[in-house]
Amino acid sequence: MTEIYSDEYWMRQAMDLAMQAQTKGEIPVGALLVADNKIIAEGYNHPITDHDPTAHAEIIALRRGGTQLQNYRLLETTLYVTLEPCVMCAGAMIHSRIQRLVYGASDMKTGAAGSLIDILRHPGMNHRIEITGGVLEQECSAMLSAFFKQRREQHKELKRLKKQQLEE
Ligand SMILES: [Zn+2]
Repeated sequence: MTEIYSDEYWMRQAMDLAMQAQTKGEIPVGALLVADNKIIAEGYNHPITDHDPTAHAEIIALRRGGTQLQNYRLLETTLYVTLEPCVMCAGAMIHSRIQRLVYGASDMKTGAAGSLIDILRHPGMNHRIEITGGVLEQECSAMLSAFFKQRREQHKELKRLKKQQLEE
């Protein structure tokens, strides 16, 4: 008998992917495409490294998913992502026809699943995606806050060093 894994189980794996982004100095966001209780594709955020504004975790996972399934329609798949998707990624999800979206932390600044704007539940959209938000929300959001805090401190330190150099 195969065990059916929980949303939390897959979200932890998405968090591991997010950590990979963080080690490259990217905002830690990870995504995972799952079907039939199996991973189809993975992705993590790396726009800076790739000089690619579209290299969000979700886009990478959807692209790889298409290649893996040899289909541009990713029917009956679930996309797990540690952060609420932006407008671009939500748009890509509609085009890809995923069945379900599960996300961790909400994004008040750019979230397109209800926080800033609700692209996915727009009444004019002909494809409906089931949405579950807030899975391991605390952990996902803590990971992001820790990253931004560390980055702010690095910037401060850099500024301090520059000032010191000028004074010497
Ligand atoms: Zn995005």
